[in-house]
Amino acid sequence: MKFPEASIAQLKEILSAPKKIVIVTHRNPDGDALGSSLGWKFFLEKLNHEVSFVSPNAFTQNLKWIQGTEEVLVYENEIGKKLCEAKITTADFIFCLDFNALSRIEALGDVIKNAPAKKIMVDHHQQPEDFAVIAFSNTKYCATAEMLYDIIADLEQTDLLDQRISECLYVGLATDNGFFQFNNTTPNALRVAASLVEKGAKPEYVSEKVNNVFRETRLRFFGYCLNEKLKLVNNGTVAYILVTQAEIKKFNLQGGDSESLVNYPFKIEGVQVSAYFSEEPDIIKISFRSRGEVDVNTFARAHFEGGGHRNAAGGKSKIGLEKTEKKFLEALQTLNIKQ
Ligand code: 5GP
Ligand code: MN
Repeated sequence: MKFPEASIAQLKEILSAPKKIVIVTHRNPDGDALGSSLGWKFFLEKLNHEVSFVSPNAFTQNLKWIQGTEEVLVYENEIGKKLCEAKITTADFIFCLDFNALSRIEALGDVIKNAPAKKIMVDHHQQPEDFAVIAFSNTKYCATAEMLYDIIADLEQTDLLDQRISECLYVGLATDNGFFQFNNTTPNALRVAASLVEKGAKPEYVSEKVNNVFRETRLRFFGYCLNEKLKLVNNGTVAYILVTQAEIKKFNLQGGDSESLVNYPFKIEGVQVSAYFSEEPDIIKISFRSRGEVDVNTFARAHFEGGGHRNAAGGKSKIGLEKTEKKFLEALQTLNIKQ
């Protein structure tokens, strides 16, 4: 048993008779958010529940290939919002997957908070909010998908895992640990991966779909950023890239196109922190990554209204690119970077 017996018993009881269930995940859903939610949806459907999956906003084109994305309800525009609200307000249970604070899903957070349904959280980020009747929250897990696999195992229902569920969960698992490269790649993550592959997930297929399907303009944008925009400071320990709206337009970038760029500077020996700043219409969205003990979660929380994990976090800024860069350079002094 990987999770508290009482929580698993409670969940087992809930799932023992058909329920109306809504699954919701975080804004700008990534591979783990989508893979976990869809895998869990298909699993619950096998148990005869009526399941809807609500995403706070549209997911990016590069994730559309994941099985079941045509079934996602998006909380955008009048019709979409009405449909989502109808599902949420009449649900018996709402699973909140891959996020742990209702503030992360903005307006949808209030709809969920006010819904009579009981909330169940499954998440691997730090500092969870207290809004769920059952909270599966554990930062040792590299992905929510890995947690869901262990929950399914604790429920003694791995026999229900088919190719589709396994592939969805594998997408979540592999994307959140950089295809088994990051320091969250634990023995358990590898064991779960092995089980999912046994059940039909195809590592090569998923890797190709996620990593090697760039549009030409996206790869050229990466090249441009690395060649012309990358700055190295702090004796070469900190690398960052600032991208303007004009550049995003020039390269005709779509949502998700900058994904993974923030990892490239680590190819330079000695880099311990990498940051990527993207100027969006009203805010600057920031991705932080670090190596080892350097804690960008605390850094993002303290300075950029964000959070995440120790080595991978995000945040935002509303003071323009120039001032944001200055603030970042000053705030760097608070990071414990060994020279
Ligand atoms: P990414 O840089 O890939 O968008 O996000 C890296 C990690 O930080 C993910 O685990 C993501 O959930 C988290 N994260 C990204 N942006 C935010 C934010 O604005 N607030 C919080 N709390 N976490 C974030
Ligand atoms: Mn995740």
